[in-house]
Amino acid sequence: MKKFINRPEDVEREVVDGYVKSYPHIIRKAADDIVVRAHPKHGRVALVSGGGMGHEPAHLGYVGAGMLDAAVGGAIYTSPAQDRIIAGIGAVAPGTTGVLLVIKNYTGDVINFKMAEQAARDEGIACDHVVVDDDVAVEGSSFTVGRRGVAGTVFVHKCAGAAAEAGASLPEVKRVAEKVIANVRTMGAAIEPCTVPAAGKPGFTLADDEVEMGVGIHGEPGVRRERMQPVDDMVDEILDTILADLDCAGHDVAVLVNGAGGTPPYELAIVSNHVHDVLAARGVRVWHTYMGPYLTSLEMRGFSVTLLRLDDELKGLLAAPAETAAWTQGAVAVESLADDATDAATTPEADDADCSPAAAAPGAETAPRAADAEAPGAAPSSPDVAAAIKAISAIADAMDAHKDELTELDQPIGDSDHGINMARGFDAMRAQLPELAGQDLPGLLKRAGSIIVSKVGGSSGPLYGTLFRKVGVALKAEGSLTVRALSAGLGKAFVAIEDLGGAKPGDKTMLDAIRPALEALERGRVNEVSVAEALADAASAAEEGAEATVPLVARKGRASYLGERSVGHKDPGAASFALLMRTLATVAAGK
Ligand code: ADP
Ligand code: MG
Repeated sequence: MKKFINRPEDVEREVVDGYVKSYPHIIRKAADDIVVRAHPKHGRVALVSGGGMGHEPAHLGYVGAGMLDAAVGGAIYTSPAQDRIIAGIGAVAPGTTGVLLVIKNYTGDVINFKMAEQAARDEGIACDHVVVDDDVAVEGSSFTVGRRGVAGTVFVHKCAGAAAEAGASLPEVKRVAEKVIANVRTMGAAIEPCTVPAAGKPGFTLADDEVEMGVGIHGEPGVRRERMQPVDDMVDEILDTILADLDCAGHDVAVLVNGAGGTPPYELAIVSNHVHDVLAARGVRVWHTYMGPYLTSLEMRGFSVTLLRLDDELKGLLAAPAETAAWTQGAVAVESLADDATDAATTPEADDADCSPAAAAPGAETAPRAADAEAPGAAPSSPDVAAAIKAISAIADAMDAHKDELTELDQPIGDSDHGINMARGFDAMRAQLPELAGQDLPGLLKRAGSIIVSKVGGSSGPLYGTLFRKVGVALKAEGSLTVRALSAGLGKAFVAIEDLGGAKPGDKTMLDAIRPALEALERGRVNEVSVAEALADAASAAEEGAEATVPLVARKGRASYLGERSVGHKDPGAASFALLMRTLATVAAGK
């Protein structure tokens, strides 16, 4: 891996700092991962977006007058954790008339943003969301997670941002965003992949004569691999697919020829040239073209074409003034900044603490801070707590040891981060063991779940976090660490994960390892075996369940975008769950 970076672990922070230092008149940091306007908006709806980083200039480059009010950035390609999104909402909500979240349709983003929205509502903030799903390469159906949100998201930022700037109400801004979503379609292609700095390896590999059609924006493989062809043929296929889905004949459209990060401007111009010819031949009028790297995928050598079917309202919103790092046009209306100059001068730099979930949403039990924890040793450690501490250390060791293996499983059918995510979460948990040791076992497990939620992000963070928390709740009800309590806890976790992610066993997710483990624990309860024996059976069942995901077609999570191409690969989340169970069994057996 050769990149213009320093240490991989510093990339996200240095990117945010680089943007903020370059555009101090437009943006400032509210926290290391939250960028807000330098001149905050008052009395109007605020727009908040975000997601994993690596798509620059999206989304922090679209924070400013006429577009977003805040961008929350997760680790590269990993959804921010919900407490960070709550902090982002909290950083802009005061003084506004409501907050609209613009979410790209990825399982992790949808779960984390929606949970943050709920927490904000619980705090009395008028908060709503839209989900962008413009990628026509992926078949949308109620049995799958639906289409991905890709470059068309930038048009949502622009149009909804202009409506919000003009003083539209929250339902109105949402209506505009939904109108854009209903009329925007995108498809992309790539000839070289990208490498997540922390992973060090590309998300897919292509031979010299291959092109990946229908590629996503996370370095994940596309929907089809084809022989290399002249770019005009790729553009034909892309426009055929888009226009078959959205009839634009006789309409005006805005065109976005988006560079994926590693595609030079001259190649984008060649794409745009043919896009214009094809659209003219098909009776589609190009009202305006936007060309350049609007929403990228690190250094991927790829491009996408987006069409937005327009009416007069959308044209007006696209034409409205904007001043952001990546999209500046026209004169920004003086009145929209008038009261802001003083605000900016008098608003103290919000620091992490001001934006903490505790400040933004005191009730958000999902996001405790170290300082909130009971003092170490406040409660005498029971044998159960001592065992749990030992187990957490062992799981953290196991996740570290299998980090590369889990990430490699996530490479062909995901975005190459699962091992990194899990190791980050359990390392954070290990770092807080002194505080955890001061709690009773249910409290410890609930705290552990909260740490996972806030440190892992992505899809697996909220799902694993829920698992720990549900087991904690069940242990509290049962009173002690028994097979019955473990079975009840995992049963509750199973149902909660189904609810949260919408997947069922057989969809090739962690549920396919959790269910057999649950059945094994249930058998253990009926047969009255020891905790160690029940865990050993559950671990074997989880391993078999994980193995059995290999032939399945993925229907939820990122792997579902691959459809049939997901067959032949083990689900990373099922594998990490099996590893977790095996580690617990080993600790319980005293080995
Ligand atoms: P991300 O998909 O956001 O990159 P990870 O790579 O950490 O997150 O986790 C991927 C794993 O999460 C998958 O292998 C799968 O087991 C699990 N997963 C994803 N979506 C769902 C879902 N809807 N229900 C249950 N598990 C899911
Ligand atoms: Mg992943």
